[in-house]
Amino acid sequence: MQPQLKHMGLTQLEKALPTLFETARQEQWTYEMFLNRAIAAEIEGRDRRAAERRMTAARLPTIKTLEAFDFAFQPDLSERLLWELADLSFVQTATNVIFLGPPGVGKTHLSLALTVKALAAGYSALFTVLVIDEVGYTNLSPGQAHHFFELVTARYEHGSILLTSNTSFSAWGSLLGDEVLATALLDRLLHHAEVIPINGRSYRMKDRRQTSEMGGQK
Ligand code: ADP
Ligand code: MG
Repeated sequence: MQPQLKHMGLTQLEKALPTLFETARQEQWTYEMFLNRAIAAEIEGRDRRAAERRMTAARLPTIKTLEAFDFAFQPDLSERLLWELADLSFVQTATNVIFLGPPGVGKTHLSLALTVKALAAGYSALFTVLVIDEVGYTNLSPGQAHHFFELVTARYEHGSILLTSNTSFSAWGSLLGDEVLATALLDRLLHHAEVIPINGRSYRMKDRRQTSEMGGQK
């Protein structure tokens, strides 16, 4: 029976079958129950593998979650807004999400956390959710600035961009080396966008600061 299942592409069921038979005997399943569980095993296995594939394809540098984010550490940041974004309606409406703030405040963490939510919900990141992290640490060459503009234009009203930057929009002219290009890019980027400024303390410096607050004692 197993080779036939394999031939039909039911590889998840093929793997689950011995356990299903055993449990079915032990728990005296009806034929109906058995068929239900067998189909469920194939579907669950497929969903799990697809989720794994999406996760690999997204090439996330690390996994970060919204659940692990300490909102108490950034009191000015709206926890409610982040949980609203986690319902992913921004992906459907091709709305951009932009985290702006100094280093260490959690911009990358929150972008990754929303990406993890999107992947879990069945979206492909990089494909239907484009994530651009760390705009502003280096100035762009004219070629890079042009490509960035083309990218934002291609996505405009078509698919969302999740973006983080340490540079306020007013300085994007010098970042891109072209005020006119920067204005046109920001016009498209910000037309449908949720801009989330985070201006609190650096989480990276958290322990260091606590140490100094205690007078340098460990
Ligand atoms: P940014 O991108 O703003 O420079 P990151 O998102 O890379 O900062 O955050 C730096 C480190 O601190 C990461 O390991 C991140 O997981 C952690 N971090 C930042 N803010 C928080 C927070 N409020 N709660 C938990 N971890 C946080
Ligand atoms: Mg970052």
